[in-house]
Amino acid sequence: MKTVPPKISLEKHLKGLIAYDGPISVERYMGLCLAHYYGSRDPLGQRGDFVTAPEISQMFGELVGLWMADVWMTMGCPSPVRWVEFGPGRGTLTMDALRALRTTPDLMRALSVELIETSPALRQKQRETLKPFIRAGLSVRWHESLDEVPSGPCLAVANEFFDALPVRQFVAAADGWRERMVGLRDGQLVFGLAPEPNCSLPLPAIGEPETILEWPGIGLSMAADMAGRLAENGGVALIIDYGYWGYKTGDTLQALRAHAFADPLAQPGEADLTTHVDFRHLAQAAQDKGALAHGVSGQGEFLMALGIIIRAAHLKRSASPGEAAAIDAALARLTGPHPGGMGDLFKVLAIADRTLAAIPALQPLAS
Ligand code: SAH
Repeated sequence: MKTVPPKISLEKHLKGLIAYDGPISVERYMGLCLAHYYGSRDPLGQRGDFVTAPEISQMFGELVGLWMADVWMTMGCPSPVRWVEFGPGRGTLTMDALRALRTTPDLMRALSVELIETSPALRQKQRETLKPFIRAGLSVRWHESLDEVPSGPCLAVANEFFDALPVRQFVAAADGWRERMVGLRDGQLVFGLAPEPNCSLPLPAIGEPETILEWPGIGLSMAADMAGRLAENGGVALIIDYGYWGYKTGDTLQALRAHAFADPLAQPGEADLTTHVDFRHLAQAAQDKGALAHGVSGQGEFLMALGIIIRAAHLKRSASPGEAAAIDAALARLTGPHPGGMGDLFKVLAIADRTLAAIPALQPLAS
């Protein structure tokens, strides 16, 4: 008979861990919460915790697909080529992109789909979304990390992926940057500071007391891996996320539950935890690996350059008045300014091999 292991909530587990081992870093806390959160549910959509660009409109994935087709032609149409998506959520972006790529049958024949996804719940969802393509004979495989993706040129995309990776946080103290920790006080999870400053990272000069600095070590190592792979095998990775360009301090750790902000320490593993993405650091990590970086552009400007207005007008031609209004609302949300729109807060960065000195809609960055 199959025995069911006793269930212990993540909160209880974390409290026990901290009581025995002492405070844990914000990075470890985020890692444990996010693994539980994504591993146990589909958090996307109106009935979930948050909505992403591909879930807002099919136009997003379609335009990303056509952008990739353009880059593939600039690369000299390599075959085979890997379509790689990092953190595909429900698989909607890849599905919409593949549908748009039917207009380039040579690319469809050259493609295999490689999905990098750690959540079993979301892998299942992605399999359902991509079923028509799998039935039609397209090779779709799942991987834990980029290392598992077979060699060869890549067309890679990561939408709202880097913001879901754990970061370390440091707080300016009189004696240096001290790591921000999660500990216990009166039986409750609380933020605190490491007893000693951290000297092992190349952190900038100490700022105003209490200033918080984020260090996206996991994201930087993933960007470096991506760049190393592209520099060697050829191809491009398109990174789209809520983030900033340039040096910035401050606590950007956010918890979202049912589309509302929540306390990041309340109900661990039951809310989405994100931080804003440091694009300058990602680009630098890529350039250090011998890849080129292009961008960054606002999401609005990028989608406009790819012709989103024409695509919206085309879709509206066969839409009911209600559907046409929904298309206009999606267009405004994807491209419009804050508040209400994602157009300027969300940014686009491409990492590419050195032969891709010019790519559509993004300017090369000086290295
Ligand atoms: N790109 C999708 C989903 C974004 S949510 C969209 O735009 O709709 C973040 C996604 O990254 C989820 O699919 C989550 O399960 C996945 N993920 C989070 N951490 C990961 C990791 N370390 N490795 C692979 N996938 C991860």
